[in-house]
Amino acid sequence: MIQISALPAFTDNYIWLLQDPGTQRCAVVDPGDAAPVLAWLQQHPGWSLTDILITHHHHDHVGGVERLKSATDATVYGPADENIPARDVALRDNDRVSVLGWDFDVYTVPGHTLGHIAYYHEGVLFCGDTLFAAGCGRLFEGTPEQMHASLQRLAALPDDTQVYCTHEYTQSNLKFAAAVEPDNTDIAERVEHVRQLRSLNEMTLPSNLALEKRTNPFLRTAETSVKQKADERNGRDNRSGAEVFASLRAWKDKF
Ligand code: ZN
Ligand code: FE
Repeated sequence: MIQISALPAFTDNYIWLLQDPGTQRCAVVDPGDAAPVLAWLQQHPGWSLTDILITHHHHDHVGGVERLKSATDATVYGPADENIPARDVALRDNDRVSVLGWDFDVYTVPGHTLGHIAYYHEGVLFCGDTLFAAGCGRLFEGTPEQMHASLQRLAALPDDTQVYCTHEYTQSNLKFAAAVEPDNTDIAERVEHVRQLRSLNEMTLPSNLALEKRTNPFLRTAETSVKQKADERNGRDNRSGAEVFASLRAWKDKF
């Protein structure tokens, strides 16, 4: 059985660590900094890092790859369409990779960046900066249409999928979610739960898709109240889910 835990990095990044106690092999997702991973390996003699999974090219996700690659024998997986340091295996849409005996499906999810990928194994999703808890990544490279389609694709995975995103942004995302849907009691409950976790300095991840579908405005563009709020914001009739999404994303950028 593989265990997943978080190695905090920078101010609000998590490097996800996958451990297979049976073989004492481990893997990491998006090591923006090598130091926390090397420190963990030093504290766990006998363990070896065999795989590094990358979702997209931003520095806070790939900054530690070269140092980890030279310190270990790890294989580096990353999106084919982006420049990833020390990448061994270039991944495209619907590819499948085996990591610590788990098969992961690869989905391209353009929007935050154009080549961004996500990794899915039954019940587990590593989605980088595409889907966040109660939010989504900024559109640095892609269009609102692309990001909306990417989020819809992830939302179509089973409800009990655990969502492992890269940043601890949940509390600020929920402030925005509550502004979009002031009457949504699931959001109000989550605001309180996350406030408690953060006051204890605990992480709010992983999330799960059922909770995201109830509380993440960017997955709720088909809700009448969300559409109405988006229409109010940009003073026009947003006809498609992608238009509602674009309006929400632009609002959040200035929130
Ligand atoms: Zn990013
Ligand atoms: Fe990031």
